[in-house]
Amino acid sequence: MDLEFGPFLQPVSAAARAERCALRTLDRCMNELGLDDVPLPIPVEEWIEHPLGYEFGVEDLSHLGAGVLGATYVDERRIVVDPSVTSHDGRFRFTAAHELGHMLLHADTRRRFQESVSLRDAGDRRLERQADRFAAALLMPIKLVLRELFAVCDEKRLDRGEAFSHLMADTPESEWLWRTWCLPALTRRFGVSRAAAMNRFQDIRFRTDKSTFLPGAVARRIIQHRASERPRFRVIAGKVQAESAPQSSRALFQ
Ligand SMILES: [Zn+2]
Repeated sequence: MDLEFGPFLQPVSAAARAERCALRTLDRCMNELGLDDVPLPIPVEEWIEHPLGYEFGVEDLSHLGAGVLGATYVDERRIVVDPSVTSHDGRFRFTAAHELGHMLLHADTRRRFQESVSLRDAGDRRLERQADRFAAALLMPIKLVLRELFAVCDEKRLDRGEAFSHLMADTPESEWLWRTWCLPALTRRFGVSRAAAMNRFQDIRFRTDKSTFLPGAVARRIIQHRASERPRFRVIAGKVQAESAPQSSRALFQ
């Protein structure tokens, strides 16, 4: 009996439902395939067909309208992705996982879904956000994301506690760590775009003060800053140290 998350003990948010559905889906795939560890990047397009039992295809979706990237047909148990997203591995994987989210979470609501930037604005945003959350949780399970972050620290001989205290703070050191090491390693490992990885770390919030793992201000700086504005750091004896004088790096962020 699941006392912690029993439906009568606390309301179940759309995000929590998406996270749980993603974890159950991963569990099911692992069990049915007899896997002990999750293969990364997660082969979602393969798993949609086996063991999940849906049809998956890459087909021209231009007949559905301009810029349609993916579609889900509930009655036919079919998920289709447009060839235009196959050139970007992360986008392809995320679109496939998003459609799977509609299939598993929203089959009672509608029998057909289709995606494009313009349609998403006009459609049911709550369903779209939940499908996005499902995709992020399926492709980047929190436990594995933290394991891979620890692996980055170990590889760079960076003290784990020191690294995590920096990563969660709004500092130049945090931006440097995210930009230089963490985001490149994680996007490669999980096969997602940088934007998807950054969104995932802003989804992950602490129960105590609801702060995000990747501070919003740091995320904005990563997106906006030009290369010449970056302060430089290095790791000495497990700690992040400024390469230039500390006052110069502070001045860059005022
Ligand atoms: Zn959608």
